[in-house]
Parts: sequence; C-alpha cells; structure tokens
Amino acid sequence: MVEQLKVDSVDRTEVLRYLGHRGQEVTPELEARLDAAVARCLEVARPRACLRSFDVAERTVRGDGTPELRLKDCALCLEGASIAEHLAGAVAVGVMAVTLGVGVDQELRRLSLTDPLGQVLFDAAATAAIERAADAAEALLVADAAAGGLHTNWRFSPGYGDLPLFCQPTLLAALDAQRRLGVTLTPSMLMVPTKSVTAVVGYFDSPQVGARPGCAACNLRDWCTLRKAGTPCTGGLRQKG
Ligand code: SF4
Repeated sequence: MVEQLKVDSVDRTEVLRYLGHRGQEVTPELEARLDAAVARCLEVARPRACLRSFDVAERTVRGDGTPELRLKDCALCLEGASIAEHLAGAVAVGVMAVTLGVGVDQELRRLSLTDPLGQVLFDAAATAAIERAADAAEALLVADAAAGGLHTNWRFSPGYGDLPLFCQPTLLAALDAQRRLGVTLTPSMLMVPTKSVTAVVGYFDSPQVGARPGCAACNLRDWCTLRKAGTPCTGGLRQKG
C-alpha cells in the first residue's frame, strides 16, 4: 500500500545545515531566497511511502565472518556488522521506501539551467524535506510495531556503516517500490527520483533504551500516533550516555 505523507514545513535551520552553514550571518536576502526555495519544494514535492514489516527468519555468519540477517517471506538480506548490531535482538524488521517524487528532480533540472544558486538552495530544501518525509514514514512503522505489541529503534539506511548499497534492489523489490512509487536505481545503486530514502527499523519485544529522545525532542512527533494517544514509546526510559 502507498502512504501519502503530509510534510507541510521544513526547518530553515536544517536547510542551512545541509548548505554547510556554520553560524555565519544570514542576510535578509538569503533568508528570503531560502524561504522561497522551501516554499517551492513543498509545492512540487509529493511525499509518498511504501512500508512493510517482516519477521526475522535467521541470523547467520558467512565464511568471511560477515553477519547476515534474513527475513521471512522476503529476499532482502541485511549484511554487515553495523546492521547486525542495530538489529540485535529484533524479532521483526520494518522496511520503508520514501520519495518526494519526480517533480522535485524536474525543478532541480530547471534551476540548473536558469538559476545555479537557486538550484543549490532548492536542493538543500529538498534534502531537508525528504528527511521530514522519512520521519513521517518511520512514525508509521512505530505505530505498526506498537499495534503488534512491539517496540522500535530508529531507521538505518543502506550505505550507513557497512550495510552495502547493493541491498537496494531487494529492499525496493520487497516493497514493490518501483511499481508503486516509481523509485528506480542507477547502476551505482543511487535512487531516482534522487530525493528518496530507504531504511529499516528494528521491532523488539521490549523497549529499547535510548532509542528515542522523548516526545518533546523526537523528530517523529508531528506524525506519531502514540504521542497523540498519550501512550509514548519512551515512557520511563532513560537516554543512552
Ligand atoms: S518519542 Fe514520542 S513522538 Fe517519538 S516515536 Fe516515541 S512516542 Fe512517538
């Protein structure tokens, strides 16, 4: 099933972070251009997601020592020490693919020909927007896990740590994301539309210490049905460190 995601704001601070801003003065002119880039991005973006969860089938270690985690009824194999650690103890895995759609790429192409600075600002706005969309999708996985009496940690994407990008084809296939979302891969495993994110989230029998910072500081709070229901996932948990 395809979920339409509601992303109606993007934090200007986040956009500045993607631009490499380190506290330099932001002129009123730049502020206005940033706000215009964000507004245009929210206008042309069509944030959508495909989500599914799969039980963990088995954990094995390859001959070269690489851990592998396989899912039930799914060809996706998650390999590497980083994802093995992230999903240690998980009983199931939520899988997500999110995209802002082709309109954002079309706008980036148009700006590349007409307004190079506008393209840079729009690209940063779109990067912030796809992370917001991924937060919205992750909140749906949190709710899915909670409906089954399970608890989540946070999303982990191919390319993080030593989880290889070459798991992307099976991840997208597990969600039928090419057909449903129009997300395809280049030969180097980059997604098209470019503002797309894939990730997995662990589902656990018990709450994961430090998985979330608490509702007030949680990136998922705008979409989280647990928070809205007054049954937060982090009740009584302390943060790591
Ligand atoms: S910390 Fe709060 S807002 Fe974040 S996922 Fe948990 S319940 Fe939802």
